[in-house]
Amino acid sequence: MKRTCEVAVVGSGFAGSLLARVLAVLGYDVVLLERGTHPRFAIGESTTPLANLSLERLAVRYGLPDCYHLATHGRWMAHLPELRRGLKRGFTYYRHHPGEPFADRGLESERLLVAASPEDALSDTHWVRADVDHHFVRRAVDAGVEYLDRTELTSAEFEDGSARLRGRRDGDALELEAGFVIDASGPDGFLARQLALPSGLERTYTRAALVFSHFDGARLMRDEAPMLPAGPYPDDWAAVHHLIDEGWMYSLRFDHGTTSAGFLLTPRGLASLVDDGSADATRLWSVLLERYPTIGRLFADAHATMPIGFVPRVQHRLTRAAGAGWALMPHAYAFVDPLFSTGIAWGLRAVERLALAFEDAASGDRKPDAATLARYDAALGEEGDQIDLVVAGAYEAVAHFDLFAAQAMLYFTSVSFAEVSQRLGAADDVSWKGFLGVGDPVLGPLARESFERLRGITRQRGAPGSAGERAEFVDWLGRAIAPRNVAGLADPERHNLYPVDFDVLMQRHALLGMTREQLLERLPALRGLGPEPRFAEPPAAARRDVASRPARGDFGPLQECAPDTNLPEWSTLKLR
Ligand SMILES: Cc1cc2nc3c(=O)[nH]c(=O)nc-3n(C[C@H](O)[C@H](O)[C@H](O)COP(=O)(O)OP(=O)(O)OC[C@H]3O[C@@H](n4cnc5c(N)ncnc54)[C@H](O)[C@@H]3O)c2cc1C
Repeated sequence: MKRTCEVAVVGSGFAGSLLARVLAVLGYDVVLLERGTHPRFAIGESTTPLANLSLERLAVRYGLPDCYHLATHGRWMAHLPELRRGLKRGFTYYRHHPGEPFADRGLESERLLVAASPEDALSDTHWVRADVDHHFVRRAVDAGVEYLDRTELTSAEFEDGSARLRGRRDGDALELEAGFVIDASGPDGFLARQLALPSGLERTYTRAALVFSHFDGARLMRDEAPMLPAGPYPDDWAAVHHLIDEGWMYSLRFDHGTTSAGFLLTPRGLASLVDDGSADATRLWSVLLERYPTIGRLFADAHATMPIGFVPRVQHRLTRAAGAGWALMPHAYAFVDPLFSTGIAWGLRAVERLALAFEDAASGDRKPDAATLARYDAALGEEGDQIDLVVAGAYEAVAHFDLFAAQAMLYFTSVSFAEVSQRLGAADDVSWKGFLGVGDPVLGPLARESFERLRGITRQRGAPGSAGERAEFVDWLGRAIAPRNVAGLADPERHNLYPVDFDVLMQRHALLGMTREQLLERLPALRGLGPEPRFAEPPAAARRDVASRPARGDFGPLQECAPDTNLPEWSTLKLR
């Protein structure tokens, strides 16, 4: 099979499919290549307000109403109930100690809740990736993308900024000439190997192994600690984080009762669990449940719906994100950690950026120019570093709950300030704005400073520091974030329970450079109220093109999942 196209997108996770679809809407001739098939199991499920704002902007700009509907739990239920998802009202954290049940000390408990939405209907979601990715690839095909699954690419040659991709599909040779290649193939991705892109991992700090699966029958934390004072939302309808000496565990409950859960273990934590050098996933899982009795009870009767998997290191990082004729999506370029759920938001922001770059090029070269690609490369580099510093700081801070609760405020200040600014600002300005405080004179430098201070306290050996050291850090962090703290964070009177508080926001209008009256006028937009937006019509040229293209691609029924083909070679999930 020989074919030419303007853009080849390698990998049909949500990022590749969505970008392929947007480019087709813009009138580009796009081929989407996938080595596996849909639907397929994948992890990386919890969205955030910034992710959903990206979805909304993409929806409005490129005429994709389903993306707008997927951006809140309420709209999702009303328009796409067949796609499985979970209600995510916010971020919940508990600190557990070995051999002790979680201690309910009322408002003094080691518990932090930060609401991300004021009510269920407007809330974020956990995506059942099998369903959501499947949906996005089908919509890409509807938009005119040619989708080739079961395709094993073997080489990529670049000449004069264009590419020749070779591979096999169903045993037949495939040759594709593409004006531009977007690599959305995730970790250990296609272009990293073809272009021999050097690793940049040594410039990063976060390191963690992963033990994970999906489980049926997991209990709710509220049933294990029923007397805890009420928080701003029900604790379990959130991204739940259980902090432990060895790292942390995520637990994401879907509305149909399945829970996605996994332990992220620091190298020191993993070494303390594995005394004979072998890391058997099922055994590690059992040892951790035994060591932490409350977590043990939560999962005592749960059974894994997929084999429990083990990944020795989830982090990866490259030294380049773009070049002449190619660009990497963030997950192909770098991954830090699931802590703070940055992956989907970062991926969607890159979809926006590259879509704009192709939009600008549509009447000219029909591919992003060198300056735009250099800007994209630099943005991903700085943002990868920033995510790493915020997360690595949080891993240091696990040493003591007070430190962790303070470090988390750095993340929440960055994202709440960005969210409010984005809701108030012009959509066009947003997508190139730095992620997680990058480029912000206040927030930008804080990630490194906080990380260094925490390492000073923990001596890089997990030491909790003295009460004085901790109090000083908490005090410093509160003062440092104050110029961007529009959400009333780091307030001791809240006892680590933070609702979405519009009154505080109104009081702090000056931090946004607005008068009280100006902010009051924009309040409906901030609350997510108001009529459904007008979605852009695809350009006439694109509509004509789509009609003339054959729809291609094989799809299985929604609920049957093949194993995730994107897991690295050494994943036990893949090996079984
Ligand atoms: C343990 C863990 C938990 C996470 N939790 C969260 C979370 O809660 N929230 C969040 O925002 N992010 C989370 N992430 C990050 C999230 O998983 C990623 O950001 C997201 O999956 C990126 O999506 P993508 O579409 O770019 O790539 P992927 O989902 O990785 O999709 C890549 C696709 O490319 C295909 N492919 C691979 N190689 C080839 C090839 N050579 N040729 C053709 N096709 C290929 C694969 O089959 C796959 O379909 C988590 C990550 C991990 C590891």
